[in-house]
Amino acid sequence: MGKVIAVSSGKGGTGKTTAVAALSSCLAVLGYKTLCIDFDAEMRNLDLALGMTDFAVMDFMDVVSGRVKLLDAYSKAPKIPNLSFLSAPATPVPGDVDPKAVKSMFNEIRTNFDYCLVDSPSGIGPGFRFAHSNADMAILITTGEYAAMRGANRTATAMREAGITNLRLLINRVLPGNFRRIETTVDDIIDMVGVQLLGLIPEDRYVFQALHANTPLVLFKKRHSAYDFLDAARRITGEEIPLQQYRYST
Ligand code: ADP
Ligand code: MG
Repeated sequence: MGKVIAVSSGKGGTGKTTAVAALSSCLAVLGYKTLCIDFDAEMRNLDLALGMTDFAVMDFMDVVSGRVKLLDAYSKAPKIPNLSFLSAPATPVPGDVDPKAVKSMFNEIRTNFDYCLVDSPSGIGPGFRFAHSNADMAILITTGEYAAMRGANRTATAMREAGITNLRLLINRVLPGNFRRIETTVDDIIDMVGVQLLGLIPEDRYVFQALHANTPLVLFKKRHSAYDFLDAARRITGEEIPLQQYRYST
């Protein structure tokens, strides 16, 4: 049975979409059949991070409403075997969506994939609730910014209220020099958010460059943070991978 993992943050722009694209690609590269879903209706952009803008014709609402079968709705990533993608609608998710239909879509996904990563919208609105009430695990993304950490702490509470017990923290855009200057450590961030660490992802200019080259980060030729995403993906699968010493410039 596959595992559904919701990826969320309290504040927008902390790196959810980047993380969903990179972690899904890494899980696929590790040999797991992986689906990533853009749950950020209206603001969808996971297709960009996957280099799959021209692929998505159907979206998850087509599946939830019964218009299209799951197996006909997702697209296979052209350059990453084992990776598939299901888009979000360009219009808001209607308020009267049947939660049972969403649940049944995720149950079907569990029988067809090893992992499903859900790019949840920022904040704790309806998209967040649908993603988390169906997830087996959640990953909370924060940066070292106070606003992001405070939002992450609030979101962690909402995740636990939605029934998530397996909750892990990914700290993104880590710049060791900045942390030293404001006398903050990774432990301070973990304490402030109150969630166990999954991994650290450095500030990496290649995230931007890969996005603009329409290439998934893990396939980009200069791929710094891709190694850290790979470590985090391995931890998701249960491997014990120690945290790397920081090899990045400050
Ligand atoms: P969210 O989905 O949470 O709104 P995104 O993944 O879209 O956030 O990231 C917001 C912006 O930050 C994007 O421009 C992305 O390229 C950039 N970004 C994300 N993670 C990193 C990183 N580790 N290093 C550098 N830039 C990053
Ligand atoms: Mg996003």
